[in-house]
Amino acid sequence: MEQLKLATRNGRHQRTVIDVNGVKVGKDFIVIAGPCSVESEEQTLETAFKVKAAGAHMLRGGAFKPRTSPYTFQGLGLQGLKILEKASRLTGLPVVTEVVDPRDVHWVCEFADVLQIGTRNMQNFALLKEVGKANKPVLLKRGMYSSLKEWLYSIEYILNEGNPRVILCERGIRTFETYTRNTLDLSAIPAMKELSHLPILIDPSHATGRAEMIEPMSLAAVSAGADGLIIEVHPDPRRALSDNAQQLTPQHFEQLMKKIHKLVVFHQRLNLEVNEELT
Ligand code: PEP
Ligand code: MN
Repeated sequence: MEQLKLATRNGRHQRTVIDVNGVKVGKDFIVIAGPCSVESEEQTLETAFKVKAAGAHMLRGGAFKPRTSPYTFQGLGLQGLKILEKASRLTGLPVVTEVVDPRDVHWVCEFADVLQIGTRNMQNFALLKEVGKANKPVLLKRGMYSSLKEWLYSIEYILNEGNPRVILCERGIRTFETYTRNTLDLSAIPAMKELSHLPILIDPSHATGRAEMIEPMSLAAVSAGADGLIIEVHPDPRRALSDNAQQLTPQHFEQLMKKIHKLVVFHQRLNLEVNEELT
């Protein structure tokens, strides 16, 4: 790992905090929420207002969808980005959206506050270099087949191009288990905190593929020390055009946010109390 000059901690103790329009990722616990895909203005605005009311810090939504099958919904593209921009303007929430093609990076930057690199593109080196030149923070998901070391090298590609604002996201890896969509590697949280100085989020939606598992995995992520969560929310999950089994209703999301908030406060108090007892 000696070549990983920028992605690793290299003896430094200070963690990187990434400011996204005033949202301090790596300092405060943050939650990004929104639909898997931008399907319409109505669906996106309704979700944006509801997740904002529940306490979300940023809005997510895919306009370019990297789908396994070429025959399923591929996203609204530019029209989707314009809808996200409107939702952001009306709610004040910064927008996180995926970019899949190096040629799109410069103009997607005009609509997005954070550029997401999806699991399938973690080792798309042309794309990593391009977002490394961009003037926007990057949310880099772990490849579903990638080791932590490979993930660190992908981070290095972005940092090496001059973009220091990289947020990590563990979204589950492929194992022999098929009951869940992926296997959530919660140990990636303490591991990447040890190895890297960058903030790490958990995506329980893609990790499990099951709405009923989002809550326990979100709470486990808080306890394991994650810097935040990215959660899929849809006004009518059963009718979603993508990932319909794993999206939460706005009502369920609101309940979950209450529990997350209480658990975050509990952990802060626990750390303070134990530190006091030790000194
Ligand atoms: C997404 O967040 O919309 C997505 C496609 O996730 P992943 O790349 O983790 O599958
Ligand atoms: Mn999805």
